[in-house]
Formats: sequence, structure tokens, C-alpha cells
Amino acid sequence: MKRAPILLLLAVLAVAAWYFMKPKPAATPALGTRVALTPLPDLAAQFSGEKAYEHIKAICAFGPRPPASEGYAKTLAYLEAEFAKAGWTTERQNFERVPRFLGESTNRPAVKFTNLLARHDKADWKQSVPVVISGHVDSKLMEGVPFVAANDGGSSTGIIVELARVLATDPKAAANVELVLFDGEEALLGNITESDGLYGSKYYAREISLRQTWPSLGIVLDLVGDKEYPARYNPDFPRNLSTALEAAAKDSSLALRPYDGLITDDHVPLQGTGLQMLHLIGDFGSMPYWHKPGDTLEVIDAEALEQTGRTVLRFLARVK
Ligand SMILES: [Zn+2]
Repeated sequence: MKRAPILLLLAVLAVAAWYFMKPKPAATPALGTRVALTPLPDLAAQFSGEKAYEHIKAICAFGPRPPASEGYAKTLAYLEAEFAKAGWTTERQNFERVPRFLGESTNRPAVKFTNLLARHDKADWKQSVPVVISGHVDSKLMEGVPFVAANDGGSSTGIIVELARVLATDPKAAANVELVLFDGEEALLGNITESDGLYGSKYYAREISLRQTWPSLGIVLDLVGDKEYPARYNPDFPRNLSTALEAAAKDSSLALRPYDGLITDDHVPLQGTGLQMLHLIGDFGSMPYWHKPGDTLEVIDAEALEQTGRTVLRFLARVK
């Protein structure tokens, strides 16, 4: 009669020991954790401005590519094929929005947009990777004008496709990066306002904020293909990262400095999620061809593409 409680106690202790000592399942990162950024190997020397240029040439040959156009569809198919060639997995983000002037309540028809995302890891889209490199693909809608936007949409796209090739030479490095091509950066009715433009980056910002984990650093490239108007960066870029950025640019023969004032572009919706954003953009206000039919392949320099592409890669090799 006295032994029973002891056996019972031993049994309870055995169960407790098993419970506390059993191997724990891998912890799921807490919701909203930012995926830590570690420096990537320096792959900059492999980046070819000529190769980036060839992609821009191919894209311009598809003609204007405003949202939901034939040119946009052809560009998407081209990009998907190029990413697949370099071993990247792509994902289309399709959505619709109604463009409207500020304060206007209208029943204009909805426009279909498509962002294109690419990952080199096993691509679990509910989880993020540390770095997002992005730019817009769409060309500004200009009725009756053959506007191919070689610099304004083309240059960033060509650089991102070449970055995909270079990063894929080191799969471990590539697994740290998500490449994103935005649709609908350009306003459909006039200049970018709160209710028109940045459609793709707004959609993407909302989508990543719903993921289980978040990136640590985002980069937006825009209008970076003309040597006469080299890339500048956003003055609100975190100061603790700008030293590494300027050093990376110097090593890439790019005289990089912050631009004056603030520019509303695709980095702004992403900053709204708390993400540290680097925005590299040429001085479009001084480009005589900006938002004009003169934005053709002739304004693009392979050297400017190479300097920008290499700056991005050298920065990612230094950033902590
Ligand atoms: Zn534009």
C-alpha cells in the first residue's frame, strides 16, 4: 500500500522528464521578424553593362509597355524566360485598381496590373529574404506616341536581369535576394499623386507586410542608364549605411551623392512598412527627354549601367 504513491510519483517524473527533454521542433520565426542582413560575397566584377544594355534593347523592341498593354505582356514573358535561364523562380502578382484624379470619385474602368517577383531559393513566398532589389517596368502611357522609356523603366529592368545572372553564379548569395519588377509606377492621368501612380509598389508593400517575416533592406533603381545624369540617392537613406554606399560607388567609378529634397517614387510605399530603403535615381528633372519620345536607347550608356549595377553589388558586400 505504501509503494503505490512512490510508483505514481516516479511515473509522473518520467513523463515530465520526457516532456522537457524531447527534441523541440524548429522554431517558427516570430511574426514580423526582419530577416537578418549579412554581407554578400563581392560579385561586382562580373556585372556587365553591355549585357544589361542588351536587355534594355530587347525590351524597347517590344514597343510601349504601359499597364495591360501588348508591350507589357511581351516584356513580362521575356523577363520570365531570362530569370528562368539564370535559375530563378518567378511569381506574378496580379491585381486591379481604378485610376482617379485626387479627390475625384469616378467610375473609370479598373486597370489590370502585374508585378513580377523572382527568387533563387526554394521561394516560400510567405517568408522574406534579407534584401529586395526592385525597379519599375511600365512605360508612361502616352496615347499615339511610341514612348519606349529606355531610361525611365528600361534601365532599372536591364540592370535587374543582369543582377539575376551575376547573383546566380553564387547560389548562396542569390538566396539572400528577392528581385521585384513593379507595374504601374507611372501615373495614368498626369503626374504621380496619392490616388494615381506607384500602383505596383503599393500593392507589394501591403503584400510583404502580410508575410510571416520581413526583409531588412530594399533598393529601388530608376532612370539610371544615362552617364550624363548619374545616379543619386535619397537623402533620408539611413546615415549608418551611407558610408558603405558611397565607398561602394567610389570603387565603381560612380560619383554618388544624395539628391536634393525628396522624390516620390516606388521606395516611398516600402518605407511606409518600416523597411530601410535605398533609392538610386538619375536627375530626371534635367533630362531633356524625360517623359518625352526622346527617351530611347540612344540615351543609354552601358558604362552607366555597369557603374550602378556594380555599386549595388559592392554595397551588398559591405553592408551590415
Ligand atoms: Zn517616369
